[in-house]
Amino acid sequence: MHDVVIVGAGPVGLFLAGELGLAGRSVLVLEREPEPRSPWRSFPLGMRGLSAGSVEAFHRRGMLSPLLAASDVDERPVPDEPEPPRSVGHFAGTPLDPAAVDLARFPHRLPSPALDGIMTSLEAVETVLAERAGKLGVEIRRGVEVTAVTQDGSGVVAWAGDREYPARWLVGCDGGRSAVRRLAGFAFDGTEPQLTGYLALATLADPGVLRRGFTVTPEGMYLTMSEPGHLGVLDFDGGAYDRSRPPTREHLQSVLRRVSGTDVTIAEVHLASTFTDRAKQTSTYRRGRVLLAGDAAHIHSPLGGQGLNLGIGDAMNLGWKLAATAAGTAPSELLDTYTAERHPVGERVLDWSRAQVAVMRPDRHSRAARAVLEDLLATRDGTTYVFERLSPARYDWGGEQRLAGHNAPEFVLADGTTLADLLHNGHGVALDFSADARLHEVASRYGNRIRYAAGPARNDLGFGAVLVRPDGIVAWTGDRVPDPGSFEEAVRRWF
Ligand SMILES: Cc1cc2nc3c(=O)[nH]c(=O)nc-3n(C[C@H](O)[C@H](O)[C@H](O)COP(=O)(O)OP(=O)(O)OC[C@H]3O[C@@H](n4cnc5c(N)ncnc54)[C@H](O)[C@@H]3O)c2cc1C
Repeated sequence: MHDVVIVGAGPVGLFLAGELGLAGRSVLVLEREPEPRSPWRSFPLGMRGLSAGSVEAFHRRGMLSPLLAASDVDERPVPDEPEPPRSVGHFAGTPLDPAAVDLARFPHRLPSPALDGIMTSLEAVETVLAERAGKLGVEIRRGVEVTAVTQDGSGVVAWAGDREYPARWLVGCDGGRSAVRRLAGFAFDGTEPQLTGYLALATLADPGVLRRGFTVTPEGMYLTMSEPGHLGVLDFDGGAYDRSRPPTREHLQSVLRRVSGTDVTIAEVHLASTFTDRAKQTSTYRRGRVLLAGDAAHIHSPLGGQGLNLGIGDAMNLGWKLAATAAGTAPSELLDTYTAERHPVGERVLDWSRAQVAVMRPDRHSRAARAVLEDLLATRDGTTYVFERLSPARYDWGGEQRLAGHNAPEFVLADGTTLADLLHNGHGVALDFSADARLHEVASRYGNRIRYAAGPARNDLGFGAVLVRPDGIVAWTGDRVPDPGSFEEAVRRWF
C-alpha cells in the first residue's frame, strides 16, 4: 500500500508528487492519458504564464534552472537592490505599467532570481516536474483512468475498472472535470458562465485585418497571440454554445467576424477548443482521506492566467503537511490548515476572474464601469493594487507578528547562502541571525524537520530570527533578542 495515491499527472499532481517524494513518502500517480505529450500542452496552445510566486516555488526546490532551460528563458542576474517588476500583466485586457508599481509598499521584497513571472508551457513545467518526481522514487502509471474511489477510517482505494490501488491518502489532481471530486462527494458551487471562449490555431487568409494583442469590442473581446493564427475570442453568449465537440471553421469564423467587427477569413483551423468562465469551488478541500488540489478544487476562466499558479500554490501548501501527517509526525490540526489557508485564496482568484468578466461584458453599464476602472488602473495606486493582488498569497492567522503568514523574503546569510538554498530539501528553516544558543537547542530537537542556520544576514530586515515553513511561509519572527519560548511555541504549532 502506498502512503499517497495522486490521481492526475498534470502540473499540480506532479508538483505534489515531488513534494511527497522529497519528504520520503511512497507515492503512486495514476494518469488517464497514455502519453504525456499533446499539442494542447506544448507551445503555442499550451503556453502558460507562471507568476513570481510559482517561479519562486521552483526556485525553492532547486528547479528554477531546469525550468528556465525547458521554457527557453534566459537566466537572470540577481540585482543588488529590489527592482520594479518586469510585468504586471493585464486586467480584463487592459495592460498595466510595471514602472508604476509603488515599491515602497513592499519593504520585504528582497532581490532574488524569482521576483518575476515567466512565460512557459504546460509541457515544459510537466517535464521538469516528472523528472524530479522520478528521481525521488515516485511511480507514475499512465493509461490508468480512475473510475471509483472508496474510503474508510484506515485507508482509501482508487479503482480503475476492477483494478484497485490502495493507499492511506488520496489526492485528486485530476483537473476541472475531476472524477475524484464527484466520486468522493465534494460539494462544488459557484457561478454559471456568461461567455464562451474559443482558443484556436488557424491560418488566416488576411491576418492584417485583426489588431495585435487584446482588443475589446462592442461584442466581446478577441486576442491575437505570439504566433500568427494563435487566436482567442470571447463571445458573451451566456455559455450557450454546445461544447461537446470542437468548433468548426465556419462557426469560428462567424463568431470571430461578429466579435471583431471585421470580415476576417479563416482559411483553415488546425486545432480549436472552447472554455467558459464558469467559476466554481469545492466547499472544502478534504473529505476524510481524500483531498483535492488544483483545478479539481476550483475552476474559473483563464482570464488573467491564474489557475496553474493557484494549483502550484495548493501543492506547495499541501505537500509537507500531508507528508508529515502520513509519517505520523504532524501536529493534529496541521492537515486541516490546508483548506483553511487555501480556500480563501481560491475564493479571491475566482472573484478576480469574475470581476474581469463583469467589465468586459458588451453592455452599456459594463462599458461605463470599465472606463472608470481603466482610469483607476492607470494610477500608481491602481497598478500597485493589482500587483499586490497577483503577488504570492499571504495567510491571515490574526496576531500582531510582522510578516507571520507571509511569503518569506529571500534572506541571504553573510556567506551567500540563501533561504531558497536552505529550503531545497523541503524542511522548515530556522534562520537565527542572533545566533542564540537557546533557539539552537529547540531547533535541534526537530533536527530531521527543521534546518537551523545561524549568523548575520546581508539583510535581516530588523529581525533577530525567522522560522520559515517548508512551503516558504513565515511561521514566526523574533525581535533582535528573540524570545525562545515563543519560538518553541511556533515550532510545536507547525512541526
Ligand atoms: C487557454 C488557457 C490558458 C491558460 N493560461 C494560464 C496561465 O497563463 N497561467 C495559469 O496559471 N493558468 C492558466 N490556465 C489554467 C491552467 O492551465 C490550469 O489551471 C492548470 O493546467 C491546472 O492544472 P491541474 O494539474 O490542476 O489540472 P490539469 O492540467 O487539467 O491536469 C489534470 C490531469 O488529470 C488527468 N485526469 C483527469 N481525469 C482523470 C482520471 N479519472 N484518472 C486519471 N487521470 C485523470 C488528466 O489527463 C490530466 O493529465 C489556462 C487555461 C487555459 C484553458
